[in-house]
Amino acid sequence: MLNIVLFGPPGAGKGTQAARLVAKYDLVHLSTGDIFRANIKGETELGKLAKQYIDKGDLVPDEVTIGMLESEVDKNSNANGFIFDGFPRTTVQAEALEQFLASKNTKISVMLALDVEDDELVKRILLRAKDSGRADDADESIIRNRIEVYNKHTAVVADFYAAQNKFEKIDGVGSIDEISERLYNAIDK
Ligand code: ADP
Repeated sequence: MLNIVLFGPPGAGKGTQAARLVAKYDLVHLSTGDIFRANIKGETELGKLAKQYIDKGDLVPDEVTIGMLESEVDKNSNANGFIFDGFPRTTVQAEALEQFLASKNTKISVMLALDVEDDELVKRILLRAKDSGRADDADESIIRNRIEVYNKHTAVVADFYAAQNKFEKIDGVGSIDEISERLYNAIDK
């Protein structure tokens, strides 16, 4: 299996690039943000709970997120592999994923980390807000909080994969095609 953690701060382009990787490598895309938003839209219990955190730009609690992610993996038992987008976002999530995949005799192949500086992220997200309809995209203080949460709780997850020699930093500035090429090169090498 090819199991990719697509990593990077909010607005780094994970969703855009994930769609291309899915097509090229025939993978299942699991975006925790997308799954939460679908639950919010469907007004499920999970959605109601998650919304309280997401609207502020805070992380949804680990146990909720981990349970949800694992059940999504289980729904796709025939997959060639997965792109994990927006997960793991904490070291606790990374450890849980490691154990969970090991129980299925598989593992993470590589972490691809899109690198974009903070001011560029804010610009991109405010632009995206015009179409995304996401409340957490429209307000600069919420965006800044998401970036702060990323720097405080999520950036360290890179160390977890670096310790296993699975960390690949990818320059996330350039055209969408250029960035895709960089990702393909890192996967195929
Ligand atoms: P972005 O990467 O642009 O912040 P996402 O769609 O990945 O957007 O996530 C949106 C929100 O969903 C996050 O700000 C957070 O509240 C919640 N979320 C997504 N993934 C996780 C996760 N792995 N752990 C906790 N909360 C999460």
